[in-house]
Amino acid sequence: QRPVPSDVTISRSCAPKPIECLAKEVGLFSDEVELYGRTKAKIQLKTIDRLQAQPDGKYVVVTGITPTPLGEGKSTTTIGLVQALGAHLKLNAFACVRQPSQGPTFGIKGGAAGGGYSQVIPMEEFNLHLTGDIHAITAANNLVAAAIDARMFHEATQSDKALFNRLVPLIGGQRKFSPVQICRLEKLGIKKVDPSELTEEEIACFVRLDIDPESITWQRVLDTNDRFLRKITIGQSPTEKGFTRTAQFDITVASEIMAVLALTTSLADMKERLAKMVVATSRSGQPVTTEDLGVCGALAVLMRDAIKPNLMQTLEGNPVFVHAGPFANIAHGNSSILADKIALKLVGPQGFVVTEAGFGADIGMEKFFNIKCRYSGLKPHVVVLVATVRALKMHGGGPTVTAGTPLPKEYIEENLALLEAGCSNMRKQVENAQLFGVPVVVAVNSFKTDTKAELDLICKLAKEAGAFDAVHCSHWADGGAGAADLARAVQKAADLPNSFRFLYDIELPIVDKIRIIAQKIYGADDIELLPEAQHKVDLYSKQGFASLPICMAKTHLSLSHDAEKKGVPTGFVLPIRDIRASVGAGFLYPLVGTMPTIPGLPTRPCFYDIDLDTESGEVHGLF
Ligand code: ADP
Repeated sequence: QRPVPSDVTISRSCAPKPIECLAKEVGLFSDEVELYGRTKAKIQLKTIDRLQAQPDGKYVVVTGITPTPLGEGKSTTTIGLVQALGAHLKLNAFACVRQPSQGPTFGIKGGAAGGGYSQVIPMEEFNLHLTGDIHAITAANNLVAAAIDARMFHEATQSDKALFNRLVPLIGGQRKFSPVQICRLEKLGIKKVDPSELTEEEIACFVRLDIDPESITWQRVLDTNDRFLRKITIGQSPTEKGFTRTAQFDITVASEIMAVLALTTSLADMKERLAKMVVATSRSGQPVTTEDLGVCGALAVLMRDAIKPNLMQTLEGNPVFVHAGPFANIAHGNSSILADKIALKLVGPQGFVVTEAGFGADIGMEKFFNIKCRYSGLKPHVVVLVATVRALKMHGGGPTVTAGTPLPKEYIEENLALLEAGCSNMRKQVENAQLFGVPVVVAVNSFKTDTKAELDLICKLAKEAGAFDAVHCSHWADGGAGAADLARAVQKAADLPNSFRFLYDIELPIVDKIRIIAQKIYGADDIELLPEAQHKVDLYSKQGFASLPICMAKTHLSLSHDAEKKGVPTGFVLPIRDIRASVGAGFLYPLVGTMPTIPGLPTRPCFYDIDLDTESGEVHGLF
């Protein structure tokens, strides 16, 4: 086998075609394309309206077995499959992937452009700022956070009258409510449009959101792995007059605004979702929204460009939309509905859109079906489940690996017994996919140390588990040619009759929905609601949020809540510590055990290897 150069070397060795040429090739009109340099463009949403009559292409979701530190290659397979469908089967094919977070890029994982000869290029552009969507989310998110604390401060330090005069100022000798204030009045049941007619009681009610500081669920965000921001005290300057409180930072990609971006279906829908986000509860038990804070219009302004999907390309020149990118463990982990929808129109009825769901099938795929497809109304045709020999061996009881030390021999020498034991995890994830009534193709992403007997064993066991087909592929080493068998299997599977269904009825009580996911997908005996979670079930049911889908925040490293338990854990009760509501994005998210919402940096983070060549301007060390 010939050696495969580093990801960045391969990426740089291939000259991308001008993005406007690719846009034209895939049928976009020049007035639908906003160029961001030579290799990236944003695509306007009006494209969907123009193509409304065009039937959609086939919709494929790529997921995986339960991840291990040894890597599975879902992004690599997404890109490899699109390269194979495009260049080798001569079909229209589009990849829809997530924008990576700077946290992992400079922290532990590295980039997410795929790898080897199956990558999105240029990978530096992809992995770094792209077109600034994540920065826009950071800005919008933190504007809300600032608005909450400033509002509490002003309410605490001013009289009703003074607050009213500032919130509804005299303009040209007249006070007038702004549209967002009229919405708030309506919500309060005050049917007056002339500010001078409000009674003192109504003024008090209007000006005081009366946020209970203990109830604030909105956090500040940053797209950096920074463990020291997991718990902070804000307001320590004397100018804040002692109004300190404990708060925290989350990673930007876990912001509800990222989830809104991924799940929205139009500009109007995004604006509505941004206005519905609940940030806290008032002392009288009412949900406090971004609309109440008066910040929702500004949020829509900050996000108006981010809503347009970003067009890039694969190493073999196929189109890729890079859009949205929440983590799948603490968020829902899928790329955007809008990117998928535009791509499905562009590829036409014989074409394929391959979209990626983060982490294992128990997390990203479950959320893809139960949340993303519920909001998009799209029906997927095929699930591609990525597995690797080495990761399955770890599920079979293989030794743990330590960063910076050589891989134990179990992972580089043939060991069919260990592999067979670990295939239990693949079997369970195949069954999980089948619960949704969609055919499954297992893609065994081969590494150079895998033996044919090992690869064949996985395929045999995958088919026994109910997969429609299972093939090994070498797209990392060979590009699209290495995934041609996978592409053919996917094409066949897409023509099968398909009885796509959701796992639970949205109208079931919150606890029942959580229990169904825990028992059917994770294999738990039952769930246990800890007191805070029970309190939230009662609160959200009372506030009218019970019929939202569920977005579990659970470790991605095990089917259970315990990251150490590999394979298929049994005999466990899933602890639900707390539940949060992302009312704008449109889901409730139960926190399973303790889940840090901002990662930390390891002893030797990826940034040690990242450098800039000031002569050539080239970036080194990204992978
Ligand atoms: P995932 O999407 O599952 O997190 P990625 O596709 O991002 O995984 O791949 C993770 C890393 O593993 C990348 O650096 C990629 O280059 C590498 N990788 C993927 N497949 C292979 C393979 N078959 N052989 C060697 N390295 C691989």
